[in-house]
Amino acid sequence: MIVAATTKLAGVLAWPVSHSLSPRVHGYWLEANGIDGLYLPLAVRPEHFATAVRMLAAVGFRGFNVTLPHKEAALAVVDEVSALARRIGAVNTVIVRADGSLLGENSDAFGFTENLKAAAPGLRVEDGPAVVLGAGGAARAVVAALQDLRALEIRILNRTRVRAENLARALGGAVKVWPWAGRERALEGAHLLVNATSLGLAGAEALELSLENLPASAVVNDLVYAPLETPLLAGARRRGLVAVDGLGMLLHQARLGFAAWYGIEPQVTDAQRAFVLAGSPC
Ligand code: NAP
Repeated sequence: MIVAATTKLAGVLAWPVSHSLSPRVHGYWLEANGIDGLYLPLAVRPEHFATAVRMLAAVGFRGFNVTLPHKEAALAVVDEVSALARRIGAVNTVIVRADGSLLGENSDAFGFTENLKAAAPGLRVEDGPAVVLGAGGAARAVVAALQDLRALEIRILNRTRVRAENLARALGGAVKVWPWAGRERALEGAHLLVNATSLGLAGAEALELSLENLPASAVVNDLVYAPLETPLLAGARRRGLVAVDGLGMLLHQARLGFAAWYGIEPQVTDAQRAFVLAGSPC
């Protein structure tokens, strides 16, 4: 591979970065579209984050993704934060503009919506309640996306109730906080269940939840993608519900950054999914 002065540069800043699937996500599209570009995994310690961001912009990077533990810190480092990223309270995509200034975006809400549109086209959240488990960064993006989809009612449940209350207060609208212990009752009449907790992640506890109360037409979306088939999704399939995995959200959210940095609207395809999964640790 020959890297030239014209090669388009982007990457992902994380600490650690070895678990990130983003280099495979973007690497696949770069090759499939014949683009002279690179997408690099960049291991950046929290104390070096602000310096690294400025340095990357100064040496010609077109932008980068930002993930754990830098998503909140990025809000303060960029020159302008989009209204959506401000609402969600985190930046995961940075675009270096022609004048060298940095725009902070959040593509998780877009990825969540686009993935649901592709995997559950019959879902209409404006007609019935959506249940969101969790109140961390992923849950905030999901709730913002559901609000933009004009969801009729959003029920949030979180182990630490005060975090759910803070989220509801920050985002406002049709958001109701339910007690974590009442999660099976919260499923009654729900059109959509989203797991935005880390329960079910490889090495973490499982999500203990009976899906009996969900209507037969409900959609279950687990944001966890390692493993791809979580016990929650397996339970949804056993009940004949539409089960949507978390990898699709990761792939779709990457479209925004890729289009901004490399100038092409990429397509999420089965071949790309298979390529990315081949690099997943689970
Ligand atoms: P986070 O900010 O650390 O939030 C973690 C959430 O999980 C909190 O709501 C936390 O509740 C809950 N939780 C953790 N352990 C729990 C337990 N033992 N019992 C009950 N609840 C528990 O993380 P995040 O960034 O929001 O990510 C959440 C999940 O979404 C992760 O699995 C992540 O991989 C996934 N994710 C996927 C995508 C995608 O593209 N598919 C994107 C972003 C995130 P407390 O508030 O009580 O601690």
